[in-house]
Amino acid sequence: MIEFIDVSKQFNRKGVTTDALKNVSLKVEPGEIFGIVGFSGAGKSTLIRMVNRLESPTTGDVKIAGQSLEKSNTKEIRTIKRDIGMIFQHFNLLDSKTVYKNVAMPLILQGVDKGEIDRRVTELLDFVGLGDKSKSYPDELSGGQKQRVGIARALATNPKILLCDEATSALDPETTTQILELLKEINQTYGITILLITHEMSVVREICDRVAIMEKGRVIEEGTVFDIFSNP
Ligand code: ADP
Ligand code: ADP
Repeated sequence: MIEFIDVSKQFNRKGVTTDALKNVSLKVEPGEIFGIVGFSGAGKSTLIRMVNRLESPTTGDVKIAGQSLEKSNTKEIRTIKRDIGMIFQHFNLLDSKTVYKNVAMPLILQGVDKGEIDRRVTELLDFVGLGDKSKSYPDELSGGQKQRVGIARALATNPKILLCDEATSALDPETTTQILELLKEINQTYGITILLITHEMSVVREICDRVAIMEKGRVIEEGTVFDIFSNP
């Protein structure tokens, strides 16, 4: 579903070159929950951001459902990106908009008609357990509720892939467990492939099928969660 092929990324800033990614190759299968773990600075964000083209490789390629991003033009990339939703550590909600409007936004941007938006947003808010919060504003919600809005928004356009960028890092342990349960349900109910990055092993242990461990821009270990955690 997602394939990183020998991806390297260099950032050049003020004459300083940083090798954020070095020859990363990984394959995420359809329907999988795949975790990328590593300390801060390991290259996790850079890697996940390549999936929806917020970054592009210096060398190498990324394929989404078999389609090369390097070989795709802007229009083709826009189409590919429709199949990809993303949630964030700090939720990235629009504070001046209601919960309803936040979730509706991707559909409004796609020109979906009002009746369909209404149906879809209502269904999504019910699914994430916020059916009664549609008129609330983000600052009236708890962190867990904000992330539920983020999840509903990410799912609005029916993506095949959900990217999670430290999605539970700003949440307390109990809320983290609830959000992870929700992600598992999304994976099982809709068959959505989930790629997540985290610095917390506990997150990986709780929901991932397979995991890659990153260090200094490289994947240093990869396998099933069982393999990784049972090896000393
Ligand atoms: P992680 O998500 O694992 O914390 P990142 O992908 O954010 O790691 O960063 C990997 C390396 O690339 C770090 O050394 C970071 O400072 C560097 N880096 C990330 N983004 C940029 C950027 N836009 N410009 C310069 N350096 C960057
Ligand atoms: P804006 O942020 O542009 O002022 P609103 O948030 O007031 O817009 O709502 C924009 C549209 O979204 C409205 O036309 C309305 O039909 C719909 N909408 C907003 N909140 C709800 C809600 N709680 N239930 C159903 N529809 C809503």
